[in-house]
Amino acid sequence: MSIARFWRETPRRYNLGGSKCTNCGTAYFPPRSVCPTCARHRESIGKMVPFQLSGEGEVYSFTTVHEPAEGFEMQVPYVLALVRTVEGPMLTGQIVDLAPEEVRIGLKVRATFRKLREEGKAGVIHYGYKFAPVEETAVRPPGGSRTAVGTPATPEGDRAPA
Ligand SMILES: [Zn+2]
Repeated sequence: MSIARFWRETPRRYNLGGSKCTNCGTAYFPPRSVCPTCARHRESIGKMVPFQLSGEGEVYSFTTVHEPAEGFEMQVPYVLALVRTVEGPMLTGQIVDLAPEEVRIGLKVRATFRKLREEGKAGVIHYGYKFAPVEETAVRPPGGSRTAVGTPATPEGDRAPA
C-alpha cells in the first residue's frame, strides 16, 4: 500500500505506531523489539506489542531553525521541538500554526498530518507529522471527538496486520 493511500484510509492516524512492553508498561517510538527498560532485557522478549501513540504531548525543548534543510519547502525561521508524548516516548517535529517566538517549554501540542517536503519536478510529496498547539481555539481535533489525554490505547486491535 502506498503511503498516500495509507493516509487516505486512516485519516485520523498519524503513523505514530510504536510498541509497548507488556512486562513493564514502557512505550516506545519508533517501535522496539526488546525493552531496554526491563532490568533483564530477555524478560521483554515476545512481550512487545504494537502501540498507537495519541500524538498528544508537550514541548520538552526546542530550537529555532533559521537555515532550511535542503529540499524542505518551509519558511524560516521555524521551530523544531522535542515533544514528550503523554505516553512517554519523545518525538521530534516541527511546530506549526504558532509564531516561533510564542513556542515555550511545556506548550501542549498535538501531532498533525502535514506535507513535509516535495521532491523535484516529479512532485513526490512526503507526508508526516508536525505539531500544532492544542490550547489555541483555532485548532480542532479531526472528526470532532477526541479521546481523553492519558487514556491508554488498546495494545492490540487498533492496528491491522500488514
Ligand atoms: Zn519492559
